[in-house]
Amino acid sequence: MTNKPTILVVEDEEDLRDIIIYNLKREGYDAIGVETGEQGLGQANAIKPNLMILDLMLPGMNGLDVCRQIKQDSNTRHIPIIIVSAKGEEADIVSGLELGADDYVPKPFSPRILLARVRAVLRRSREAEEENAMSLNIDGLVIDSNKFQVSIDGKPEKLTKSEFSILFFLASHRGWVFTRYQIVDAIRGEQHVVTERAVDVQIAGLRKKLGGHAALIETVRGVGYRFKE
Ligand code: CA
Repeated sequence: MTNKPTILVVEDEEDLRDIIIYNLKREGYDAIGVETGEQGLGQANAIKPNLMILDLMLPGMNGLDVCRQIKQDSNTRHIPIIIVSAKGEEADIVSGLELGADDYVPKPFSPRILLARVRAVLRRSREAEEENAMSLNIDGLVIDSNKFQVSIDGKPEKLTKSEFSILFFLASHRGWVFTRYQIVDAIRGEQHVVTERAVDVQIAGLRKKLGGHAALIETVRGVGYRFKE
């Protein structure tokens, strides 16, 4: 997790957009600026930023509509939004917060204030993510998805990233049968496992490491695998 957080800035006033981007970058963030709501929506879907700074008064699609669409789409719903708006748009701020925006900063604002809000919202969203991450304990097999650690009867076991991903995926869906293709699909992005045959290799390695707990991963003949219910 050494990646810099990426922040998407949707602001039609070029000078202001430049100032925001400049300050975010100086603070160590990756910042991308766009000037319309449509572009903002497109970029939110394309790059899945860690945070979005959203002006409400935009030409074309306005900020509230952007906010509504982001928060209604399960692909983008998790992206925190800080609304920025000019004086006299209080009603819009309330609407934005009700639509799911996380915070707001009234214009004009100092970069220092905006950066403080950015830090706070990023921290809150990180904490929420960590709370959502699961730690499973199954008959002495502990799978900690925060730390990517597995231990068996209290003894840590070293798994590769692919092995860990497969184990966590199966164990968090106990009793469900998955085909090899579904497993590949579920852990896509873990570069090593790209073929269905590779799943078999990973499972074999996993079972070896699980030792006495190997039987928790069951082969479902002709179909795939399942974590014992
Ligand atoms: Ca504007």
